[in-house]
Amino acid sequence: MLDKTGTITRGEPRVVGICAAVGRSVDDVLRFAASVEDASEHPLARAVVDAARERDLARLPSARFSSSAGLGVRADVEGHDVVVGRDQHVFAAIGTQATSSTFSAPAAGTTRLLVAIDGDLAGAIDLLDTPRPEARAAIAALRAAGIRVVMATGDALPAARAIARAVGLDPERDVRSGVLPADKAAWIRDLRTNGHAVAMVGDGINDAPALAAADVGIAIGTGTDIAIEAAGVTLLRADLNGVPAAFALARATLRTIRQNLGFAFAYNALLLPIAAGALWPWFCWTLSPMLASAAMAASSVSVVTNSLRLRRVTTVMRPGAVSSNKSVVM
Ligand code: ADP
Ligand code: MG
Repeated sequence: MLDKTGTITRGEPRVVGICAAVGRSVDDVLRFAASVEDASEHPLARAVVDAARERDLARLPSARFSSSAGLGVRADVEGHDVVVGRDQHVFAAIGTQATSSTFSAPAAGTTRLLVAIDGDLAGAIDLLDTPRPEARAAIAALRAAGIRVVMATGDALPAARAIARAVGLDPERDVRSGVLPADKAAWIRDLRTNGHAVAMVGDGINDAPALAAADVGIAIGTGTDIAIEAAGVTLLRADLNGVPAAFALARATLRTIRQNLGFAFAYNALLLPIAAGALWPWFCWTLSPMLASAAMAASSVSVVTNSLRLRRVTTVMRPGAVSSNKSVVM
C-alpha cells in the first residue's frame, strides 16, 4: 500500500489557481490561508506559504492553531477565525454544506483546499503535485515480483484518480481516496485479517498509524521523524525504486537463511555422529577433538561465505539506497 502525497508524488505541490468568493480578493484568501498554514508541516501547507511569499503577501500573526490530521487546519488570524482544508473539514467548521461549485471547477488532477473566514466560505486554492519520475517503473517492478499494489490517500477522488492513472494503477480497483489516517490503518488491519501480508510505504505525514499497523512499514527517508520511528525499513533517498529493491533484498536474505539452515543441519547431522564414534564399530575411525573443532569452524566459514553472496544483490539497486533499522522478515 502506497500513500499518495509525498510518496507516489514528489510532495512538492504548487499553487496553480485561487478562487475568491464575492467580496473577497484572491490576495486576501491566500494571505489568510498562508497565515494559518505557516504552523503546519504538511506539503500542501508549505506550498500555500510559498505562494504567498512569491506574491509578497506578508503573513499575519496567528493564534490558537489546531490541525486535524488528514482534514485541515484552523487558527485565529488577527481575530478572524480561519479554516483551511478539504471540503468536509471546512463545511463541518462553518456548519453549512455550501458546495464548492460556488467556484469554477478545479483543473484535472489538482487538489482543492477550501478557505473559510469567520464562518463564510471565502475561497479555494488549487494545488498540483506531480508523480515521482520513477513511480511508474517502481510500481511495475513490484507487480512483476508478484506484489499487488494499492494506493491510499486522504485526497479527493479526482486528484487520486489522475495520479493513479499516471503511475499505471487501476483507478477503480487499486485506489481508496478521502481516507483519514485511521482509515488507512483500518484498511491494513482488514487486509491482514484476510490473510494478506501488507507493507505500507509512506512519508509519515498523516500515515504513521498505517506504517505501524502494517506487517512492514517502509518510510521515505525525506519523511518525518515519526515515520522513520514507526517504520521497520527506511529508504535513505526519496526514490521509490528502493521499495522493489528492499523486497528483492529481503527475499534474497530469506533464501540465504534457508540455505544456511539446511546446510548447517546436514553438516551437523553427518559429522556429529561421526565425532561421537558412530563409525568406530566398523572402521575404528572417529574425529579427533582437534579435527572436530576445525570442522565446526569450517561450517561457520561456509555459512558466512554463502551469506556474503548477498552483497551481489546490491547490483539490482543503487548501493546504500535502503537501510533497515530493525530486524524485519518479509
Ligand atoms: P495523503 O493521504 O494523500 O498523503 P493527507 O492525509 O496528508 O493526504 O491529507 C489529506 C487531505 O487533507 C489533503 O488533501 C487536504 O485536503 C487535507 N489537509 C491535510 N493537511 C492539511 C493542511 N495542513 N492544510 C490544508 N489541508 C490539509
Ligand atoms: Mg502523505
